[in-house]
Amino acid sequence: MTADRLFGKTLKELDSITAAESLPSYTARQIAGWLYKREAPEISAMTDLSLKARSLLEAKFVTGLTPPSSETVSADGTKKYLFRIDDHRFIETAVIPDRERVTVCLSVQAGCRMGCHFCMTGKQGFQGNLTSGDILNQFRSLPEHPSLTNIVYMGMGEPLDNLEEVLKSLEILTSEWGYGWSPTRITVSTVGITARIKEFLESTRCHLAVSLHTPFDAERQALMPVQKAHPVKEVLDIIRAFDFGRQRRVSFEYIVFKGLNDTPAHVKELARILNGIRCRVNLIRFHAVPGSEYSSPGMKEMEAFRDSLNDRGITATIRASRGEDISAACGLLSTMEQNKTL
Ligand code: SF4
Repeated sequence: MTADRLFGKTLKELDSITAAESLPSYTARQIAGWLYKREAPEISAMTDLSLKARSLLEAKFVTGLTPPSSETVSADGTKKYLFRIDDHRFIETAVIPDRERVTVCLSVQAGCRMGCHFCMTGKQGFQGNLTSGDILNQFRSLPEHPSLTNIVYMGMGEPLDNLEEVLKSLEILTSEWGYGWSPTRITVSTVGITARIKEFLESTRCHLAVSLHTPFDAERQALMPVQKAHPVKEVLDIIRAFDFGRQRRVSFEYIVFKGLNDTPAHVKELARILNGIRCRVNLIRFHAVPGSEYSSPGMKEMEAFRDSLNDRGITATIRASRGEDISAACGLLSTMEQNKTL
């Protein structure tokens, strides 16, 4: 029998475990403290638990922390880590330093079933959901862990397609018994699963980023098959009706493909569909990936598109491309590593 993992369990789940072992009710909080605040590597290091409690737990559980299996460093300081999930599956985690900020980009699934045509992870197909422990291990087991300032759920997989585990991980990150992070330092990015976006908005106070990529339905469906079942218009209606308050942000991710989605017609339609939503549009230069039918725009084209959006009253910024020399496009490194194991 393989031991279950304590790391990644919520306080409620730890409560159930300690109740099942007939341990005192305060033990769950002690374990959470050791896992998420004092960062004990092993159960044996949880020294204020009774010996009996430690040995009961050790019979069935491990903390379950796993170091990355490899690391690649870009000339610009971006790092890409691979974590091994099993013999053939790998997930990617990126660390992006930017002046005083150090952002970690977490994966939530091995592969992805959304099938976006421009994405290497989409080409892998769906290979399984990550648990809350797998998601948080990417944050906890990095050498940069103590210096991280921001977390984005923008790696492999679709967060709203694994909402239960994503919400657990966010609860652990933001609870006083967990890491105690402010939700304003965490952003979750989604293609927009209409049936789940409201639950996400109501369950956390973390920022929301929606992958938009074009304002035109047919064009979006050609890029992102999810548009058919979850039209972005419905996603925007949900966002428009939700009270984000003063602290919480909604942003739109917009990968710019040369000559495809950066025309004056796109600017005009974006201004129309985003009307009434207090938001920012993050323009991301497409990273060319092997065999892709899309190409990367030049910086001049990116700036002209940004300026046209700003002129229409849309706050648009260009997100600096990072780590292009280390295959930082999501899914590329893990695809190469998986191919080696086959
Ligand atoms: S872009 Fe995101 S949602 Fe789309 S296939 Fe890639 S990982 Fe999945």
